[in-house]
Amino acid sequence: MYKSKSDLEKVLALSESEKAWSEDIPHLPVLISDEVMALINKYDQNDPIRRQFVPSKEEQSDYLGSLDPLEEVKHSKSERFIHRYDNRAALLVTDQCFAYCRHCFRRRFTGHEIGAVTRHELEEICKYLEKHTEIEEILLTGGDLFVLSDWKLEEVIGMLKETRPDIILRLCTRALLSHPRRFTDELFRVFERHNTGAPYYLMTQFNHPREITKESVEIVSRFLSLGIIAFNQSVLLKGVNDSVEVQVELARKLLVNRIKPYYLFQGDLVNGTSHLRVDIKKGLEMEKEMRKRLSGLEMPMYTIDLPEGGGKAILTHNYLAGEDENSWIFDSPYGGKREYPKIN
Ligand code: SF4
Repeated sequence: MYKSKSDLEKVLALSESEKAWSEDIPHLPVLISDEVMALINKYDQNDPIRRQFVPSKEEQSDYLGSLDPLEEVKHSKSERFIHRYDNRAALLVTDQCFAYCRHCFRRRFTGHEIGAVTRHELEEICKYLEKHTEIEEILLTGGDLFVLSDWKLEEVIGMLKETRPDIILRLCTRALLSHPRRFTDELFRVFERHNTGAPYYLMTQFNHPREITKESVEIVSRFLSLGIIAFNQSVLLKGVNDSVEVQVELARKLLVNRIKPYYLFQGDLVNGTSHLRVDIKKGLEMEKEMRKRLSGLEMPMYTIDLPEGGGKAILTHNYLAGEDENSWIFDSPYGGKREYPKIN
């Protein structure tokens, strides 16, 4: 584990910008697991995994955005329970992760030593769920769900399943990359014991093809053996995956390893992350090119989570180019125009 600048200096030749990051004013602490460090190319100061986990001065000289760009606090029923959309809610089971991503959009909460959800908090959330039958899905997130101990994980999913067995539970985690040893036989037995009612979905975050390791692929297979399908939510990040080549390689590697590329998120307007955000113009150009090169199964949805809790909007080229009296006129992704007759 690497928890401080001096820990990092023992294994990395820090750049001027990394050296200038001050531990006295962090919004988000530094924490890099051994597994993440092993993936970083120590000789490349622009390594795409290093950019995601090693803090730099740019974080602390960014005055744009806010610490809660999606206005989650406003839509929270308690510190840990966000009910923004009618049929979905998010339960922040812990603020802890095995490694802290410098692009984390929930840095108002993440890594603040708040700890795991208590039994009392869970009881209150279950009472809310009994009343709010419109909720059909809960994202178990934080922080990282799998930071919870086995017994706490069992308490969380056991209570939720007992209260509302009809609710779909999304298991949100980066631990397949940051702490694959966490996925023990005992952890899978927790899911075997509670594998009734509505399904679980595993929600991963792989941002670069090198993050998909042999260990993470084996973990996905174990979830699949329980009928739990994996979807990947990545973030478009400058210097990490802002090229069509990297995105195509990532999408193919995910799908071949039984993980559906689901979202490619535009970076949220979270303070401290401007240096990692990509302009939407470039993102749209990439999306257009990716759509030509990837199959429908491989293609993630390029999406922006709108500021101030405005919800998700899909970002894509508008292929409907116009109309005349008899036809709709389209841009073909492969060049030229095509017409489709109007139906009267
Ligand atoms: S794993 Fe998720 S919650 Fe944790 S730091 Fe990364 S983005 Fe934030």
